[in-house]
Amino acid sequence: MIYDCIIIGKGPAGITAGIYLKRYGYEPLIIAKDGGALERVKDIENYYGISHITGPELLKAGENQAKAFGISIKEEEVLEISKELHFLVTTNNGTYEAKTVILACGTSRNRYAKADNLEGVSYCATCDGFFYRKKKIALIGNGKYMAHELSVLENICKDITVFTDGKPLEAEIHSSIPVVLEPINKVIGNPHIEAIEAGGKSYPIDGCFVAIGNASGFTLAKHLGIGLKGNSILVDENLMTNIEGLYSCGDSIGGLLQVSKAVGDGAVCATSVSNYLKMHKS
Ligand SMILES: Cc1cc2nc3c(=O)[nH]c(=O)nc-3n(C[C@H](O)[C@H](O)[C@H](O)COP(=O)(O)OP(=O)(O)OC[C@H]3O[C@@H](n4cnc5c(N)ncnc54)[C@H](O)[C@@H]3O)c2cc1C
Repeated sequence: MIYDCIIIGKGPAGITAGIYLKRYGYEPLIIAKDGGALERVKDIENYYGISHITGPELLKAGENQAKAFGISIKEEEVLEISKELHFLVTTNNGTYEAKTVILACGTSRNRYAKADNLEGVSYCATCDGFFYRKKKIALIGNGKYMAHELSVLENICKDITVFTDGKPLEAEIHSSIPVVLEPINKVIGNPHIEAIEAGGKSYPIDGCFVAIGNASGFTLAKHLGIGLKGNSILVDENLMTNIEGLYSCGDSIGGLLQVSKAVGDGAVCATSVSNYLKMHKS
């Protein structure tokens, strides 16, 4: 099945976009790995018409509203988006096809503070793996997203060591890949990264890839070559990125990081997607 639109994120931006699209007569699919920022919000008292609500309550209400319209919501983690004739959205559970995509992924981008200011540190294997062909690299991460980045790097780099930074290894990787489970004590380099120290040992490296936690909107966008400004995804006045048919809204695009703005963005974004789909009927 080819969806009219795949929306990544079930926060206020993604759910609103889904509801508007469904009511415009389209078939959206929402994919989200969790509840996003609202899961961590204790009290909301500044949202129109609601004196007080907790984040999880608002999240549940939005999700129920979307489901009541018959919108399908899948609890999966998006690992990669690519564009051929249509968009292909790959999750930990499969690949879905859509004519358009909305990134409503919130703000996090899982930076690794200890290495962030050094050269030779990348957040995107597809983008930068080629620069380290036949080189010795570190890959920091412990979950499915790390395993996905590893599958890209394995074909390019000579020598890869995975550092889980003290966390348990939660993804299956080939037994030939060395894994350091101890916490990282120090990242050495000036200005280019040179070595990682963990468990009392020093591991010399030419480069380092960070794949902590999940693929954030930022990393998904980077893989696709979307224009970025700081932490945010760059969009035009219709909330479309520099890739045709690919939109973004809510905290992902920066500005006021609030529910009211995310909801407004979601409505605008869905309207733009609807206009796009009308113009690109196939
Ligand atoms: C502690 C705290 C307090 C706050 N208090 C307030 C307040 O009082 N009032 C207010 O208006 N705002 C408040 N906010 C801000 C508000 O929660 C956000 O602005 C709002 O939730 C943004 O909505 P969003 O839909 O853009 O992103 P989010 O709500 O963050 O949703 C992001 C979605 O993207 C999904 N996602 C991301 N990456 C992937 C991936 N790789 N695969 C699948 N899914 C993915 C997540 O699972 C999630 O569903 C607060 C935020 C925090 C953290």
